Amino acid sequence: MAHRAVWIRGAALGLALSGLWIAHTQQAPPEPLDLQHVKGPLHALIGSGGNVSVLVTDEGVVLGDDKFDRNFTEIVAKVKTLSDKPIRFDLNTHHHGDHTGGNEQMLSQGTEVIAHENARANLVRGQQKGPQPLTFSEQLTVHAGGEEVRAIYFGRGHTNGDVVLYYPKLRAIHTGDLFVTGAPFIDYANGGSAVEWDDTLNAVLQLEFDTVIPGHGAVSTRDDLVQWKENFETYRERVSELSRAGKSAEEAIAAVKVDDLKGWSKDNRLKNGMAGLLQELR
Ligand SMILES: [Zn+2]
Repeated sequence: MAHRAVWIRGAALGLALSGLWIAHTQQAPPEPLDLQHVKGPLHALIGSGGNVSVLVTDEGVVLGDDKFDRNFTEIVAKVKTLSDKPIRFDLNTHHHGDHTGGNEQMLSQGTEVIAHENARANLVRGQQKGPQPLTFSEQLTVHAGGEEVRAIYFGRGHTNGDVVLYYPKLRAIHTGDLFVTGAPFIDYANGGSAVEWDDTLNAVLQLEFDTVIPGHGAVSTRDDLVQWKENFETYRERVSELSRAGKSAEEAIAAVKVDDLKGWSKDNRLKNGMAGLLQELR
């Protein structure tokens, strides 16, 4: 509710300043975030930007990602409904602004914000706000209140700086955008790789888990992740054939079959990644 009130005030201010009444009345207020219980002390905030994992412990809250800057107030309010302890740690799964947009405000309230060294480098190069003061190269473990969160780097995929958050006691993971509902976005400008992506997921599948918080979309199972990886491999093989046939990006988008891949469509993620994918596969 507080978030909504802020939006209404912001809209009223915008109206007074600019008189752009139509623009403001057509701009819908942000969708409220959906706080879901995942397992034991682990929860997820779904909606608007990347999914946020929320681990509640007696020694503070550990977040995975923080959506956009505009979601900060609502994230903090939703976490307060679970715990009166501070948000001590915020582990970024990668650098994209729909997962790290709240970093700056998290840092200003004293939260330790942590990422893989490549994710920080990507974020700094992209001149995004809230560079992470703490980085690591292989693995970092947060211990709090008898719980453990391991941030593990398995290799390239969505970018060159994706980490998976592993909650070993809970047999759960948060994949960031290494796994999403529907087609993947391969961020070639930031070191992404379709060729290495499934090796990265094969390494992730060595972990012991049954519950998966994806980067976007509903809380899923290990089987969902396996199925998505197989869809990804099928898609990549189909694009490989089109690449060998010398198709352009537009021709490949038109020709590639995805309607048998559950949840996939020829959306902007798929379209925007085609030229880079063809190039990588050549
Ligand atoms: Zn992303």
